[in-house]
Amino acid sequence: MKIFCIGRNYVEHAKELNNPIPEKPLIFIKPATAVTRIQKPFYYPDFTKELHYEGEVVLKINKHGKHIEERFAHKYFNSFTLGLDFTARDIQNECKKKGHPWEIAKSFDGSAAIGDFVSFKDFELPINFTIKKNKEIVQTGSTQDMIFSFSKIISYISSIFTLQRGDLIFTGTPAGVGELNIGDVIEGFIGDQRLLYCKIK
Ligand code: MG
Repeated sequence: MKIFCIGRNYVEHAKELNNPIPEKPLIFIKPATAVTRIQKPFYYPDFTKELHYEGEVVLKINKHGKHIEERFAHKYFNSFTLGLDFTARDIQNECKKKGHPWEIAKSFDGSAAIGDFVSFKDFELPINFTIKKNKEIVQTGSTQDMIFSFSKIISYISSIFTLQRGDLIFTGTPAGVGELNIGDVIEGFIGDQRLLYCKIK
């Protein structure tokens, strides 16, 4: 299983970290060991002093595919959840400054928290979602604000990588990312339905 992540897919988030707006989807990958099992706690890593949450819509691929045309991309997923792309922001900033790859800041154990998967059939598009930290709203997002749509993302990724059943795609975070500390609770909602719960330990 591979976990693809899209960086800077919402204009306001790209701006909040002073990053340029990408012309093509910006892709990085987390290994299968990055998954924090559904609704399980996340253990604050000892190598960072600035752990950030990034709340995102996560697609689950249900069919093997390569070179998928945009118009057929919707056939390759039918469920989604909300997830957290945990980021060691201090380490990422160092990597960026040096022009180094940023896996150590993004792809460590537990860095991909996922909630319960639900069927697209049961929701209207766009998906509007809310991330709460300690019961307060910190991010609100709507998939209509994504720079690259689900179909564009799938088509682009599959032009380079084979998509396999069970692969996950983190589709990018809206503005409002921020720091986490031990004891914080982070939750993800669609309307009043909670899909994601994660406690930082
Ligand atoms: Mg992200």
